[in-house]
Amino acid sequence: MRIAVIGAGIVGITTAWELAEDGHEVTVFERRSSIAEETSFANAGVIAPGYVTPWAAPGMPAKVLNGMLSTHAAVRFGRGVWRCLPWIRRYLAACSRPVHEANRRAMQALARYSRERLDSIAARHRLDYEQAQGYLVLLRHERDLERAQGGIRLLQEVGTTVRVLDAAACRAVEPGLNPDTPLRAGLHLPHDGVGNCRLFAHQLRALAQPAGVSFRFGVEVMPLDPAEPMHLRWRNSVHPMGTSQMPTELQEARFDRVVLCAGVAAARLAHAVGLRLPLVPVYGYSATMPMRDSAATFGQGPNSGLMDERYKVAITRLGQQIRVAGSAELGGQADHMAVAAQSTLYKVLQDWFPGSGDVSRVRLWKGGRPMLPDGPPVVGAAPVAGLWLNLGHGSSGWALSCGSARLLADRIAGRQPAIDDTRLGYERLSNPGRPG
Ligand SMILES: Cc1cc2nc3c(=O)[nH]c(=O)nc-3n(C[C@H](O)[C@H](O)[C@H](O)COP(=O)(O)OP(=O)(O)OC[C@H]3O[C@@H](n4cnc5c(N)ncnc54)[C@H](O)[C@@H]3O)c2cc1C
Repeated sequence: MRIAVIGAGIVGITTAWELAEDGHEVTVFERRSSIAEETSFANAGVIAPGYVTPWAAPGMPAKVLNGMLSTHAAVRFGRGVWRCLPWIRRYLAACSRPVHEANRRAMQALARYSRERLDSIAARHRLDYEQAQGYLVLLRHERDLERAQGGIRLLQEVGTTVRVLDAAACRAVEPGLNPDTPLRAGLHLPHDGVGNCRLFAHQLRALAQPAGVSFRFGVEVMPLDPAEPMHLRWRNSVHPMGTSQMPTELQEARFDRVVLCAGVAAARLAHAVGLRLPLVPVYGYSATMPMRDSAATFGQGPNSGLMDERYKVAITRLGQQIRVAGSAELGGQADHMAVAAQSTLYKVLQDWFPGSGDVSRVRLWKGGRPMLPDGPPVVGAAPVAGLWLNLGHGSSGWALSCGSARLLADRIAGRQPAIDDTRLGYERLSNPGRPG
């Protein structure tokens, strides 16, 4: 079949790859000049299936509100947050225990499957995407350890290997941890880890092109036409920072299937064909810097991935670089860099690995997680003939991408996927508060 994939983030590129593996003729449309230029550009890189969980959870709204009074709040409201009110209403409906449980199970099953799929692609093609093994969740105080007990039980229930370590054992796993910062305990997930999402996306593109996938970069696909949804129209995109290109006449082509992997922009593309995708960008920040030579030599930087549970900030080692990432900003704008959010990143890095990164060469980044109110992505058929959806992966798109792509390709081929996908359908969005 001739299949169009709209969007070349990590979800689009993995989708294109799996569809090409099944023998389809795939064309990827991307408005940027290359792949992984938007939310997949500089995420934290964590792949920890046991930690993939919906943000809609019992007790979460109260936690968010309490935390907002703190200088280093994990969640902030940006300008224009009122536009997210319908989304917030749906989010609250999905916070009940039964709904959260159902969504968590679905997301973790997908994350585990995705991890297997990622490992098998990487092994088959000998990919080095700066992966490192091990994930350590840092619990600064006794109360953090108490709060973590429920999470530990859940991890054990789903068969995740998790070890509760005292401070000395944490420092044995990550010898660079600053001894002066109080540390009560850590949760160590030895089989989870990190990898460079953008690098992997580029490597997959290099494999996909000879496998027959064509890429149309710098083109913006127009909203789908309700009369002919498989008939795509596009034109050159205008560079967001100015006018590096002029818009051109519309071009068009017909496909047998269209897969929407356009992140938050998918809502606008699919609106005219009657789809209501409750997607909002939940912005986060990352700061990436080269590791100082001295830190590399004397083991003062991170070895793999860490999460400061108190501040919800991840620190990851990606090759010879350190990345620190976090913050969740609802409302706000893609091009406004909030100083407070950045200072939280620097504080956490300074607390745990002081002097390990060359901050004079830091690269700051802000990306919008394509977030659905209840948690799991939508992976499957849309209620429009020929249209398929792979979107809304929120804070775990990298960790979920390879599995989502294979699952979607199986469904398009009419095959039963390897995992249960009943919770990943579009239909559930009409009632995010329904557990079953
Ligand atoms: C600070 C931060 C940290 C994160 N950390 C992690 C992590 O540790 N682990 C993890 O698993 N996930 C993480 N995430 C989440 C992850 O980055 C996202 O879930 C993932 O990148 C989403 O991928 P995507 O392909 O759906 O979206 P995108 O990467 O945004 O791709 C969508 C693409 O569609 C294109 N597009 C849109 N509209 C059109 C159109 N009309 N025509 C043509 N092209 C179009 C866009 O240009 C874009 O390239 C993090 C996110 C943030 C912000």
